[in-house]
Amino acid sequence: MQQTPNGQVRVLVVMAHPDDAEFGAAGTIARWAAEGRQVTYLILTDGNRGSSDPAMTAERLAQIRHAEQRAAAMKLGVKDVFFLGYDDGSLQPTLDLRRQITRWIRRTKPDVVVAPDPTRRWTGQRYINHPDHRAAGEATLDAIIPGSDTRLVFPELIEEGLDPHEVKEIYLSGSNEADVWVDISDTIGLKIEALKEHKSQVGDWEELEQTIRERAAEMGKSQGLPVAEGFKYFRLHE
Ligand SMILES: [Zn+2]
Repeated sequence: MQQTPNGQVRVLVVMAHPDDAEFGAAGTIARWAAEGRQVTYLILTDGNRGSSDPAMTAERLAQIRHAEQRAAAMKLGVKDVFFLGYDDGSLQPTLDLRRQITRWIRRTKPDVVVAPDPTRRWTGQRYINHPDHRAAGEATLDAIIPGSDTRLVFPELIEEGLDPHEVKEIYLSGSNEADVWVDISDTIGLKIEALKEHKSQVGDWEELEQTIRERAAEMGKSQGLPVAEGFKYFRLHE
C-alpha cells in the first residue's frame, strides 16, 4: 500500500450503522491501526431503529449506539468516529448523501476507503442484505467517482475550501465477490472484543463469538489462512 507524503496511510471506513464496520472489517481495521495507519469512521445513520424494546426511544437508542460505536472503535485503534445522523432504516443513495460523503472524503483525504458492497442483494438461502448497507455502498462508490476526484462536481464543496481528492484503493466488505483476503489471526480477538461493545445489539456473546470465528475460518479456507476477512478490492491509483 502506498503512503502519503507524511508517511502515514489514511483509511476512511464508511458504513450505514454502528457495528457494520466491526462485523465486516474489524480484524483488518485493527491490523491496519496496529501497523500505524490512521483510521477514521464515517457512520451514516444513528442505528436508532435497532431495538424491539417498547420502552426504548429512537433518540435514546441513537445516544447508546454512538457510545457503543466509539467504544468499539477505540478497541481497534480507530482515531476518529463521525456520524452523519441519517435515520436508520431509510437510507437512500441520494445526491445529498453522495455530497456529504464526498465532503468527508475531501476533508479526511483517505488513501483507502472501506465501504459495504452495494451489489450484495443476498447471500445463499438465509441472508437478505439490509437496504441501508446497499445504499451506503452505492453512495460511497459514487462519492469516490465522480464525486471526490472531480473539480466541477459539487462546486459548493470547492467554495468550502475542499479540493478534489483521489482515493487510491477501495475495500468493499460483505461482498459475494471477494477477491482480496486479509489474515486476521492476530486481531480476531480484538474484533470480538469490539463487537461485544455493541451491547444493545448482541444477545448471546458465546454464540456471536462462535459465529465470528466460524465465518472467519470459512473465509480464510480458500486462501490457506487460518482466519480472514474478504473484500472486493479496487486499485484506482498508484
Ligand atoms: Zn448494519
